[in-house]
Amino acid sequence: MKILVINCGSSSIKYQLIDTKNRTTLCKGLVERIGAVTSIIRHEFLDEKPLKKSIAIENHSAALGKIIELLMQADNPYLHSIDEIEAVGHRVVHGGELFKDSVLIDEDVESAIEQAFDIAPLHNPPNLHGIRAAKKLLPNIPHVAVFDTAFHHSIPQHAYLYAIPNRLYRRYKIRRYGFHGTSHYFVSREYFNRLNRKKNGSKIISCHLGNGGSINAIKDGKSYDTSMGFTPLEGLVMGTRSGDIDPSILFFLIEKEELSLANVHALLNKHSGLLGLSGYAGDMRDLLEEAEQGDRRCNEAVDVFCYRAKKYIGSYVAALNGADALLFTGGIGENSPIIRKKIIQNLEYLGLEIDEKKNDEIVGFGPIHSENSRVEIYVVPTNEELVIAIDAAKIAIASKQTPWA
Ligand code: ADP
Repeated sequence: MKILVINCGSSSIKYQLIDTKNRTTLCKGLVERIGAVTSIIRHEFLDEKPLKKSIAIENHSAALGKIIELLMQADNPYLHSIDEIEAVGHRVVHGGELFKDSVLIDEDVESAIEQAFDIAPLHNPPNLHGIRAAKKLLPNIPHVAVFDTAFHHSIPQHAYLYAIPNRLYRRYKIRRYGFHGTSHYFVSREYFNRLNRKKNGSKIISCHLGNGGSINAIKDGKSYDTSMGFTPLEGLVMGTRSGDIDPSILFFLIEKEELSLANVHALLNKHSGLLGLSGYAGDMRDLLEEAEQGDRRCNEAVDVFCYRAKKYIGSYVAALNGADALLFTGGIGENSPIIRKKIIQNLEYLGLEIDEKKNDEIVGFGPIHSENSRVEIYVVPTNEELVIAIDAAKIAIASKQTPWA
């Protein structure tokens, strides 16, 4: 089945046309700076050079129209008619407590996504915007919502409750939700399936390290605890997000620097993390280059990043009472031997030992643990879009079979 996967951000749309039968991405692209005078479109067919254009794109609806136009180009060997697209899978960041699985989008689902605007003000509004625009452009096929939070619904209460007055959980549903669920789900399934490992009784720690980052403790194949919380701000040091900090710092800053709520929000989400620590960049590649040239603050930023990840791994070994496997994914997790090494070193007590040669040479899926390591350590490239496409395909088929459901 050919499925269009859409990931709508506040000023960008990422898309992929995926053939779920052979799990292949046929075309993909990115529209950035929507609403600006010079929006940028990057579109590529499988095995071909990307096409990059700079034009003004007013809003998400216009961007989606442009995407459909690009997909329908006469020279697209993978799509001869728009009718070949059988469903659209939409990434939705926050499903709140309601959505434990992916769902066919109807008006009720749209209004539930809207109700979660409060708890996901940065993500859910553009996600819903994209859904509505795509439904207008492609009205005759199923649209499916796949939630970043869904995989984490199995997290037990003792791990998802915050120690604040319980009525705040009951009234506002303030709790840990966790994000990157499709990625942690995908990489854990890759580990089970490719290596023929059993889910039951398994204890896995999955590290998704990209611009955003989270670590997930997975027990019996189900999410058991995760570093992101009520929002994607908690947990690891990220590109521009602080991750864990003492909440009292906020009161202190609000008073000392006379910051508004919006200022504090921007400070923690956009100006902190690797960028804030280094004062130079939130991008790990840039930081590593400068660190190698001897830049002290870039080095410090890398050290804080790795130390925070190490602490989470240790705490999840404790939460799971052991670990069978540690998985690395995301742009940093998949591509940076230095970061993986720094995170794993000195965890021998917990049974984790890296093989430096394997770690340096690995490309794509494969092991990087030493012969003595009691815990398997794997690099597993993630593919969140494929998870979305497969869920959308399954739900589209089911909806055709039981249109009254
Ligand atoms: P996103 O969360 O936006 O999907 P990615 O998963 O693509 O992000 O990860 C982006 C991060 O991965 C950036 O910090 C980038 O510098 C880092 N990265 C990519 N390749 C490498 C590499 N070879 N070495 C170190 N970091 C890398």
